[in-house]
Parts: sequence; C-alpha cells; structure tokens
Amino acid sequence: METQVRNAYRPDGAVDEAAVDAAAALLRAGEVVAIPTETVYGLAANALNEAAVAKIFAAKGRPQDNPLIVHIAAMADLQPLVTAVPEAAKRLAKAFWPGPLTMILPRSARVPAAVSAGLSTVAVRMPVHPVAAAVIRKAGVPLAAPSANLSGSPSPTNAAYVFADMHGRIPLILDGGSAAVGVESTVVSLVGAVPRVLRPGGVTVEQLRAVLGEVEVDDAVLHKLKDGAVAASPGMKYKHYAPRADITILKGTFEQFCAYVDGKDATVLCFQGEDAHFPRAVTYGKAHDGASQAARLFDALRELDEQGAKTVYARCPDLSGMGLAVYNRLIRAAGFHLVDLENPEK
Ligand code: AMP
Ligand code: MG
Repeated sequence: METQVRNAYRPDGAVDEAAVDAAAALLRAGEVVAIPTETVYGLAANALNEAAVAKIFAAKGRPQDNPLIVHIAAMADLQPLVTAVPEAAKRLAKAFWPGPLTMILPRSARVPAAVSAGLSTVAVRMPVHPVAAAVIRKAGVPLAAPSANLSGSPSPTNAAYVFADMHGRIPLILDGGSAAVGVESTVVSLVGAVPRVLRPGGVTVEQLRAVLGEVEVDDAVLHKLKDGAVAASPGMKYKHYAPRADITILKGTFEQFCAYVDGKDATVLCFQGEDAHFPRAVTYGKAHDGASQAARLFDALRELDEQGAKTVYARCPDLSGMGLAVYNRLIRAAGFHLVDLENPEK
C-alpha cells in the first residue's frame, strides 16, 4: 500500500479543508489514517466500525488486549458512547476538554467490544488540536486512535516518525507539524469510588486534584507490575517507548551523575546545557521543567537509536507536575532500571 503524507495546513496557516476531507472520506470508508493531535500522532479509524478498528491493531501490531481511546469533537458525542456520565466527568470535561485528558467511563453497547479489548469500560478524549477536531467533525463519527507507532516503539511526535513506522501499512498521514505536549494523554478512571490516574500525561495529577479533590494514582504508574498482576490500564503492562539502547536512570544531583558516568563508554540522556560535559549526549528539555522534557522525550529516545547508542545513562526527572508523565515513560524505556545515587546502599 502506498502511504501518502499530506500537509494538514495551507501556506497561510489555516487548516487545509481539502486534506481534512480526504482523511474523513477514508475514515468513513473504514480505512485507517494517521492524524496529528496535541499529545502525539494518532492512528485513527471509525470507532463504531469493528472491521476498521481491527485494521488499527493490525497496522500497529498491537496486542488485542490493549484497548483504544475514542476521540470525540463535542460533548454531544460523549453520551452515545457511555452508559453514564458521572458528575466528576462533567467537571473534568469542563476544566480540561478539549485537551490531553482521557476519561474511562462505562461503555455503551454502541461501542464495539474490540475497541475496549472486551472491557466493560471505554476510554474517551476530546482533543484540542485543530486538525484532529476538524477530522472528527468531518468524518462524523467518533475515532478510535492509539498512538501512531508500531507497538513497542516510542510514540511519534511528528509525521516523519509516523512514516518511519507506518509506511506501506496505511493510506494517509496528515502532517500537522510537531506535537505540542509530546507525551500521551492523562488517563483517569471514573468507574471506581475514587478517581484514579492510570497513566499520567498532559494534564497533571495536581490539576486533577484541584478540580476533583481526592484522586488516586495507580501503582503501575511508577512501578513495574508484579508477574501475574492484572493491569487497570492494560497498556501499562507492555514494554513501551523502548529504544534499542539499554537505558539506566541515575537518580541524584548532576555532580553525582557526572561522577558515576565518568570513564564509562556510554551515551548520556541529559538536560539542556549539561550535554557539553559528555562526549556523546542527547538532551530532553530543561531540568525541573516537566513540560519541556515531555515535549522532547520521545524524539530524544528515537535520536538515541539514530546515533546507534548502546549503553545510555539518563538524568532523572522530578516526579511533580508533568515530570510524573515523563518519568512514567522513561522508566519503561529503561526497563525499570534505576540507580539511586542519593541512597547508594539501596
Ligand atoms: P495509546 O492510545 O496507545 O496511548 O494507549 C491507550 C492507553 O489507554 C493504554 O494504556 C490503554 O491501556 C488505556 N486504556 C484505553 N482504554 C481503556 C479502558 N477501557 N480501561 C483502562 N485503560 C484503558
Ligand atoms: Mg501507545
């Protein structure tokens, strides 16, 4: 299959309606199209068409038990997908939609079970990206869309990375430039007694607590699932975001980091302004600035591969704000390898 890459914007900066029309026509015909969103690029198909949804799993090589997020363009699109809209969902939608927040709600019978990998719930998000919103509106159906990477590789933040993974597998990629957030949406479950963050992302836990009060963070956000444990968010159990390089996160000060890597034949994944200290380094944002780290992390992981890095030592992000989402991705990319330089006996 020939994969066309088409600019989603006109030279004057407006969304190119002809490109949106082309994507919407393919989606209505049951095809899979890659679209830009504010988090990362998505691999979209008509969420209400089971055969179209099956093509997403095939194109990504995604395990069948890893559910998809359904993307909508207006509040009126939510009702048909779910059997209830709890008060908490209404408040979160008011505060963060459109935006990088996904809510887990009870699934209605209209949503094919395959979308949710057989779960009784469905994940729903309203993206703020103008191209994503225009494509959903034009297609006239909700779009199931996971990240547009091959299963297991870092999520793509630009059309070139989508092409690298998806060429020959899908007919069209809409190029909307670089994704602003750079990591996937925050996933919050609203089906239990207390709202629970299953995956940190573009909306922070602090922001959710400001709206809802009590919010739990699932164990799988920071820790490796124990063998045999059931994942609340099935995606958490898979090896994710993994470059070919062998990454170890070093927790501690920059001085401790430098002392540890000194003399080792390794590439360093560090913050801006620190790279001059090392013979081989890739940077991912500014120290103590989770948003800038998120915007760079997946690109940095792909750059490590492009450089042929084998052994990588990474600076550890803070766990507050967007830093939690960055750490969640990085610790998985590192296969949970972390050395605590502050408490070396541990
Ligand atoms: P992706 O779209 O590739 O960023 O992955 C979607 C993420 O949302 C995965 O981590 C899924 O496990 C999670 N997810 C989607 N639907 C559900 C659901 N119904 N319940 C729990 N997690 C979900
Ligand atoms: Mg993904």
